[in-house]
Amino acid sequence: MPLKRNVPEGRKGWKLTACPKCGEPCWETPLFRSIAQSGAIPMCTMCALKKGVQANAAVNTDNGHTRSM
Ligand SMILES: [Zn+2]
Repeated sequence: MPLKRNVPEGRKGWKLTACPKCGEPCWETPLFRSIAQSGAIPMCTMCALKKGVQANAAVNTDNGHTRSM
């Protein structure tokens, strides 16, 4: 989900929420609302990026402790 610090102004239909992973304020857009309804957990852009990086590197550092960048 777009982070509020990246996108300070929400658009129509967006709802301010918090990332379930890092707790950063971010926008729940209609797209992510439908993703959530399909059972996936929508996360913020940064967490999605980090998750992708971790998946690609196959590093085993995901022990619930997230470093801030
Ligand atoms: Zn996050």
